[in-house]
Amino acid sequence: MIDPCPSEPAPAAVPSGYRGRFAPSPTGDLHAGSLLAAFGSWLLARAAGGEWWVRIEDLDPPREVAGAAERQLDALANLGLHPDAPVVRQSGRGELYQQAVDRLLAAGRAFACHCSRTDLLASGGIHRQCVARIRRPRPAIRLRVADVCRIEFVDAVRGRQSQDVAAEVGDFVLKRADGYWAYQLAVVVDDAAQGITDVVRGADLLDSTPRQILLQRALGLPTPHYAHLPLVTDAAGNKLSKSDAADPLDLARPLPALRQAWRALGQDSAALERAIGVPGLLAAARDRFDPQRIPKAAISAASHNTVFTIPD
Ligand SMILES: [Zn+2]
Repeated sequence: MIDPCPSEPAPAAVPSGYRGRFAPSPTGDLHAGSLLAAFGSWLLARAAGGEWWVRIEDLDPPREVAGAAERQLDALANLGLHPDAPVVRQSGRGELYQQAVDRLLAAGRAFACHCSRTDLLASGGIHRQCVARIRRPRPAIRLRVADVCRIEFVDAVRGRQSQDVAAEVGDFVLKRADGYWAYQLAVVVDDAAQGITDVVRGADLLDSTPRQILLQRALGLPTPHYAHLPLVTDAAGNKLSKSDAADPLDLARPLPALRQAWRALGQDSAALERAIGVPGLLAAARDRFDPQRIPKAAISAASHNTVFTIPD
């Protein structure tokens, strides 16, 4: 078996310069948690003198809400967060994802899998070998993960991270049995195709990162730099977007929303006190942003009006 977990560095170099991105899924309106990722990724890109792109990750139609992508883009425009390139939608990029899967299949790094969730119950949902009792008309495609496969990387906010992908994740899905592309594959293909150098996103995706690095290596793509921002949670500690507390932002009041996100990113609230208007606030934020102050811990939000409660 070809080892998909080489210990040597990624074969391709990260492009020079800085290009970040914000990549929301259109499963609802922009809320306090997604604003943190949007503003945080914008600030880090601007602090580096780099570009900031937006990609709509609309790969899962059953979970999507009609009109949500347009409302998210309107919200970003209202907040003064304008991307430096035309917005890309994953739903129109199936050909690129198919090409990547075809390469992995041809190299023996991916395989067709007929296993159902029920088949994998005995192994805790982790796939290490095919145990399907029935062949499906449309199998899933999985990446084969070597028996010994620990991926390590340094996150700019959280420091050194490590995951035993074989034991904790197993062979993972690239194309689902229902025909939809898996998030892991699409993100890796798009980040490389768009020349993204820095991935800044919520910490809920921290445990996806080793899978994405493994996939980058299998495809010979560069591994971007990673920074995972603190999650905004409700009082019970649930991720905000999955809870009833995920109220949409009040777009009539972009300044309070940006100030709250600024404080949640651990920044000095006095720095923006005198800023007038959205452009003024963003200019001040760009000047005064200190990446070292970004907290590692999750941040709880009150259930209304996107008011953050910042831990002392
Ligand atoms: Zn299988």
